[in-house]
Amino acid sequence: MRVLGIETSCDETAASVVALDADSAPEILANVVFSQIEEHAVFGGVVPEIAARAHVEALDGIIEAALADSGTSLDDIDAVAATAGPGLVGGLIVGLMTAKAIAAAAGKTLIAVNHLEGHALTARLTDNVAFPYLLLLVSGGHTQIVLVRGVGDYQRWATTIDDALGEAFDKTAKMLGLPYPGGPNVEKAARNGDATHFAFPRPMKGSAQPDFSFSGLKTAVRQAASAIAPLGEQDVADICASFQAAVSDALADRVSRALKRFRETFPDEAQPTLVVAGGVAANAEIKATLHTLCARHGFAFVAPPLKLCSDNAAMIAWAGIERLRADLGHEDAFDFAPRSRWPLDGVSAPVVGSGR
Ligand code: ATP
Ligand code: MG
Ligand code: FE
Repeated sequence: MRVLGIETSCDETAASVVALDADSAPEILANVVFSQIEEHAVFGGVVPEIAARAHVEALDGIIEAALADSGTSLDDIDAVAATAGPGLVGGLIVGLMTAKAIAAAAGKTLIAVNHLEGHALTARLTDNVAFPYLLLLVSGGHTQIVLVRGVGDYQRWATTIDDALGEAFDKTAKMLGLPYPGGPNVEKAARNGDATHFAFPRPMKGSAQPDFSFSGLKTAVRQAASAIAPLGEQDVADICASFQAAVSDALADRVSRALKRFRETFPDEAQPTLVVAGGVAANAEIKATLHTLCARHGFAFVAPPLKLCSDNAAMIAWAGIERLRADLGHEDAFDFAPRSRWPLDGVSAPVVGSGR
């Protein structure tokens, strides 16, 4: 089975071909990602209108490149899977309409994929992780802990009550005059900083409510930064290191709570697994913290390669394969309208359409 995946929900225009043949491991035949970061960097964040236009300009060429890279023609494809939400609606329209057009013209099955389901199932593409497992999704738009029980069977255990973690990194960078996207630049600056220099808060630590919060931490960073003016390079490094330490500490508290809940829910699970996804999973300190935590709780820790943690279309093609394989039914996905909001708990309804 070969599926063409298309991803346009934010600021990456991406297309991929993933194959799954009987008795062999899935194979990513092509994974083309065009990042629009340069077009948005001057504005310090993603501008939806610019993103939508950039998707229109880039998508056809990206799809052609993915088909060429994989040595696949449209005839060899079994289905087209496209991100249909959640995300910026302009980009979603571009990707989903293109997928509909290709599927209709070539007489192929169309699968409308939830972007978060793509992130959630990636670890099965890379590491063959078995259900059930726990997912920590940390990206620019989401911070969630999700119980992944099966394809289309998700239960959100925790979410952020204010900012997403990637957003907190991006805003912190902006306050300190570091370029967009903030995550990698904060991490880089933190390497030369003293993580104990500022005692930033650990939001929600010890709370009985399972959720995340990062806005209080952001405010603390703003106060620390404005108390020192002008900011020197070492000040920025110390703030970044202290911010990252606070984030790691807060994450560890929230995640360890979820690991305990997983144990209570599945006492017979021989190899419980925590999977991480989203762009923030690039952060080495956060990854090390999660690794240590999992070891302490007897969990396996799976972090897919970076290219598959941040936005890409291989995860969308793979989610399509999982949906086809699970035979979740054949509603008419050609009628499916993009959804800017689409919580993962709401995806169970199968959305797969035949090409005629
Ligand atoms: P979503 O998937 O929720 O729609 P998104 O597309 O913005 O959002 P990703 O592309 O998965 O998310 O990740 C981008 C985010 O990851 C940005 O906020 C970026 O700052 C953050 N990020 C990237 N690298 C690092 C890093 N090394 N440390 C911390 N954060 C990082
Ligand atoms: Mg992105
Ligand atoms: Fe994403």
